[in-house]
Amino acid sequence: MDFRLTEEQEFFQRTVADTVDRMIMPHVEQIDESDEFPMELWKEFTSLGYLGLRYPEELGGMAADAVTSMIFYEEMSRASIGFAQSVIMNMLMGTHLVYRWGSDEIKERCLLPAIRGEKISTVCFTEDQSGSDLAGTRTSAKKVDGGWVLNGTKNWITNGPLADFATVLATTDPAKGMKALNFFLVEKGTPGFSAGQVLHKLGCRGTVTGELVFEDVFVPDENLLGAEEGKGVVYLGEILNEIRCMTGAMGIGLARTAFDDGLDYARKRVAFGRTIGEFQLIRAKFAEMATEMEAARMLLYKAAWMIDQGEQPKLEAAMAKMFSVEMCCKVVDEVTRIYGANGFAHEYGPQRYFRDARFLLYGGGTHEILKNFLGKEIVGGR
Ligand SMILES: Cc1cc2nc3c(=O)[nH]c(=O)nc-3n(C[C@H](O)[C@H](O)[C@H](O)COP(=O)(O)OP(=O)(O)OC[C@H]3O[C@@H](n4cnc5c(N)ncnc54)[C@H](O)[C@@H]3O)c2cc1C
Repeated sequence: MDFRLTEEQEFFQRTVADTVDRMIMPHVEQIDESDEFPMELWKEFTSLGYLGLRYPEELGGMAADAVTSMIFYEEMSRASIGFAQSVIMNMLMGTHLVYRWGSDEIKERCLLPAIRGEKISTVCFTEDQSGSDLAGTRTSAKKVDGGWVLNGTKNWITNGPLADFATVLATTDPAKGMKALNFFLVEKGTPGFSAGQVLHKLGCRGTVTGELVFEDVFVPDENLLGAEEGKGVVYLGEILNEIRCMTGAMGIGLARTAFDDGLDYARKRVAFGRTIGEFQLIRAKFAEMATEMEAARMLLYKAAWMIDQGEQPKLEAAMAKMFSVEMCCKVVDEVTRIYGANGFAHEYGPQRYFRDARFLLYGGGTHEILKNFLGKEIVGGR
């Protein structure tokens, strides 16, 4: 066993950390306060080429392994979770199906500019009446001559109102549940495709999240992303482990920032004639947080390493996502307590970490859904 990162990965980590500290950190509070998408920062950051981290070099990517991508997600999430979410959407969920199934022309038109940061992408599953239960998808796709006509409304879509293209889950027959689900590429400017209401969120601010509306939207046959009809969920499943690991990595990144902040505060804040970090009960919090952060890292990087070995770490990725995000929620909670009343004040970081951590509970599967999955895999039965 070798738990060390390679020299290349260590170098990459230092480079990304430095970039995040220099380029993103100074804007974090402003992004959260304004809740506006930082377009100038997006242009500056995406020009560095990181959006193509997992894509082949001939497409403008870096052909990095999964472990390296987790390093990136973790470092990014030390800063603005909202900005990290917009960036990561373009690197993974928003572009993967276009990379995997798009024609050469579609790749030229959508994927390559997305890798360069010139186009913004998203993925759409969630609707008002269906989130975890994809079989409840009501957005419909009707076959017509030469293509498909889409109707429906998606909600909670990251980058949605800004998106130049979206991969949209739609059913060709609601009675067939999961077996009738397919992803379709819909590009901005297509008649009938529009952005609806923008959501005002508790956390993860600065990424624009909202509705996308499809009213008799015609897309040609080649926009059905996949070799076989009815396999949309199967195709999505090919990157589900990576999505789950990514969400866990975001949790570890955010927890690190909160932990470091709490440590700094505990070493300076004085009560009863000594720094609060000298009290056993406060030290115990740091002992527990550091242990759980380390455990989360072990789970997460092992699952990512398994992806790099060509394995399908279904259990490990689900465990890593759930454990890392629960750990993150616990760390941000403890840090707000360590800060006392200041943890409740907008002038300090902990309230933001606290709000941002909640966002990670949903993506990649809620923890009830992950426990259902893990429990069934472990125990068996129906
Ligand atoms: C900031 C943000 C950005 C997002 N971005 C996107 C995006 O870009 N694209 C997109 O498609 N979606 C996006 N989502 C939506 C996200 O994917 C969903 O929130 C998630 O899939 C859960 O669905 P839901 O919120 O409808 O909850 P529901 O599925 O309605 O679940 C509600 C509650 O019931 C529980 N529950 C559901 N089923 C079961 C069960 N069988 N057993 C036990 N408990 C159960 C859940 O765990 C949860 O606690 C985003 C969400 C947020 C908060």
